[in-house]
Amino acid sequence: MGTIICQTCNSTIDHFENEKVSTLYGKCTCCDEKQQKTSK
Ligand SMILES: [Zn+2]
Repeated sequence: MGTIICQTCNSTIDHFENEKVSTLYGKCTCCDEKQQKTSK
């Protein structure tokens, strides 16, 4: 089982089933909204 972690605030966003990858980085909805407001 792998984990998706927010690259901005390091909080766990979600879990997924994958044998090769244990950790993925993404953005949680909170940080995603913040960045959308500040950039463009
Ligand atoms: Zn975040």
